[in-house]
Amino acid sequence: MTITNAYAAISAISPLSLYPIERRDTGIHDVQIEILYCGICHSDVHQARNEWGGSKYPMVPGHEIVGKVTSVGAQVTKFKTGDLVGVGCFIDSCRTCHSCLAGEEQYCDQGMNSTYNSFEKDRVTLTQGGYSTGIVVDENYVLRISDKLHLPGVAPLLCAGITTYSPLRFWKVGPGKRVAVIGLGGLGHMGVKIASAMGAEVTVHSTHPAKEADARRMGAHHFVLSTDDAIMKTQRQHFDFILNTVSAKHDYKRFLHLLALNGTMVLVGVPPEAPPVAANILIGRRRTLAGSLIGGIRETQEMLEFCAEHNIVSDVEIIPIQQVNEAYERLIKADVKYRFVIDLASLKN
Ligand code: NAP
Ligand code: ZN
Ligand code: ZN
Repeated sequence: MTITNAYAAISAISPLSLYPIERRDTGIHDVQIEILYCGICHSDVHQARNEWGGSKYPMVPGHEIVGKVTSVGAQVTKFKTGDLVGVGCFIDSCRTCHSCLAGEEQYCDQGMNSTYNSFEKDRVTLTQGGYSTGIVVDENYVLRISDKLHLPGVAPLLCAGITTYSPLRFWKVGPGKRVAVIGLGGLGHMGVKIASAMGAEVTVHSTHPAKEADARRMGAHHFVLSTDDAIMKTQRQHFDFILNTVSAKHDYKRFLHLLALNGTMVLVGVPPEAPPVAANILIGRRRTLAGSLIGGIRETQEMLEFCAEHNIVSDVEIIPIQQVNEAYERLIKADVKYRFVIDLASLKN
């Protein structure tokens, strides 16, 4: 066991604070990682504050991890000491079910072992995430990271990047497709960059008019203020695909109207309260309302290579861990450009 510095939530109402944790010794299949940067996902806030129910404490959040390998187990073949690596939203899964064998471990029949707020394989030890200086993970759940990209900007790819890349790929977004991204936050800004790199015509729907210039810089062709009823009416039946990243309760019907015949709106945002959906809006234009959960290891590696090839990283605000509680408050107000990333050097002794 190694005692590792970390920041944890002790309960749903306590601010995050210093909380040393134990990491296991490096097993034969394990990679020991010194964490350099960790992104702050809105899911960290939802879970630390128990907004989805069932949260487990003490909880060290963080599933957008990049770092350097410090040692490897005797039978590790994919990594060596000194490699740059990433860890995303899960650190293991059953490895035998249909989803795991298909490389879609996020849909594991037994439930993936999430990077935090979940259990290790022993079903007893709580998993603890990336707001810490180190982590030990089986090599099959570790990603290779290019040394050509801005490392803090790579961290958010491990969740925000793959969560947007996977549905864009699954629904075959590309040239000739009209795509709307709802919400220009951590996920949304990655969705804009990736969809535009895939060749789609991208429109951002945001509640903040001040984000227009950034949206266009990231590759959006159009920008719509989604609170403006008159402009929203002009957008009806326009889009083949909508990526809905909104983290708070909102009216799905308002955006379903924007889908063209046979269009699909994919929910990736997980508001704590489920909004109602009217059947007639779907039926009238054979529309689909769907959901998508992060992405498997294989697809995450593919996404990292796609981003390296297209020079895509997240726009980040780098903070010391001591500012994490303030960052959470700003995230809730959609006041972030466009992902907070913790520099774990601030947590060293
Ligand atoms: P974020 O950075 O806070 O971005 C959310 C954006 O939603 C905000 O920037 C804002 O964009 C918009 N928004 C917020 N409140 C709104 C409201 N009341 N009405 C309309 N728009 C609003 O969050 P994130 O990290 O991107 O995460 C987004 C959601 O995805 C969270 O619920 C998170 O838990 C979930 N998530 C899901 C998966 C998955 O696998 N499906 C993975 C990661 C995260 P504007 O300012 O542009 O309006
Ligand atoms: Zn996330
Ligand atoms: Zn499985």
